[in-house]
Amino acid sequence: MSLYPLALRLDGRKVLVVGGGSVTTRRIPALLDAGAQVRIVSPVLTPALHAHVEAGRLTWREGRFDESDLDGAWLVQVAVDDAEAAARVSAAAEERRIFCVRADDRTAATAWTPAVTRQGQITVAVTDGGDRRNAMALRDLIAAALTNHELPVARTEQGQVFLVGSGPGDPELITVKGRRLLDRADVVVADRLVPGMLLDELRPNVELVDAAKIPYGPSVAQEEINRILVDRALAGKFVVRLKGGDPYVFGRGGEEALACAKAGVPVTVVPGVTSSIAAPALAGIPVTHRGVAHEFTVVSGHVPPESDLSLVDWSALARLRGTLVILMGLKNLPKIADRLLADGRAADTPAAVVQEGSTTGQRVLRSTLGEVAAATAAAGLRPPAVVVVGDVVPVLG
Ligand code: SAH
Repeated sequence: MSLYPLALRLDGRKVLVVGGGSVTTRRIPALLDAGAQVRIVSPVLTPALHAHVEAGRLTWREGRFDESDLDGAWLVQVAVDDAEAAARVSAAAEERRIFCVRADDRTAATAWTPAVTRQGQITVAVTDGGDRRNAMALRDLIAAALTNHELPVARTEQGQVFLVGSGPGDPELITVKGRRLLDRADVVVADRLVPGMLLDELRPNVELVDAAKIPYGPSVAQEEINRILVDRALAGKFVVRLKGGDPYVFGRGGEEALACAKAGVPVTVVPGVTSSIAAPALAGIPVTHRGVAHEFTVVSGHVPPESDLSLVDWSALARLRGTLVILMGLKNLPKIADRLLADGRAADTPAAVVQEGSTTGQRVLRSTLGEVAAATAAAGLRPPAVVVVGDVVPVLG
């Protein structure tokens, strides 16, 4: 059989889907993504499809297929268990010259859905001569190749900056989007806590700026980083600013976004997996747990509690019963723990320190609020580390 490949513009066009089971559930997202006006006809729906209906993303007629359901449809997809019912839909669609995709019997269908992989604006669709597994296997090969190779991207004249979160340390914990942007970058400006393996994989012609090596004090260094981002982008470069964890959690990402905006440089943030949640998680500590903690608060401990520069209301935190996660807090941990105790948090509150979470250097110390500072010093724990205080610390044992 020889097929004619085609890409459909379904935005604003009615697509009828007959059947409300698991096959339909899997097919719906791509139709919605294409902007189709999806109408489902089925006596029952899966919970996921109900959720789409409730959110107003598609409409549902409860019942069995009726020919009038085809009114106004450009395309039909049938995914029902009953082959005879599918054949009836198919025949009615044929009569009205509406293409029909059939999950039960592809050979009887007038349209086939290909195996698909997407990267940004590019969609690769693979259609086979009969055995769909061949198409899927080839699609997987192409998807892997696309991940590893640079596509010749259509570049705009203007440069731009992406503020990308690299995740907590394990190179596999960067987002798919962050990873793809790294593959496209002309310039990468990287922080100290960024996973080295991600940088190791950069193409040789990428300009790598190590932000940790910029001399001068922290605030001048930040101005220098802002200047590098803006300069390179104004020179038309595709700039990735790679930052540990999430760019907007104590990462000064906001300042960099402002500096770019002020210079008229388009800037986009790509959130990352933050160490404030991931490091506890990988140490076996969920930051919330049913019946234990209904809140978690993330604070920076880089300024001691008594300092005039502190913006943290430590007394209020001491009164909370939920989880407290302290970043950049090792140096000031004795003062922080004392302050929480003085303001009323119990000395036997469970506490933990997670050093270099998600990396091969991960170390975990479990203690109590009363003893955690001394135990941390005795164990020789070093930054980067997060401190977790609260009853969630022992919940997973
Ligand atoms: N934007 C980052 C945080 C930057 S502040 C994020 O979202 O994770 C730097 C602090 O983050 C460190 O001092 C430490 O407290 C914490 N941190 C970063 N990576 C860490 C890791 N792998 N394990 C434990 N703590 C980490």
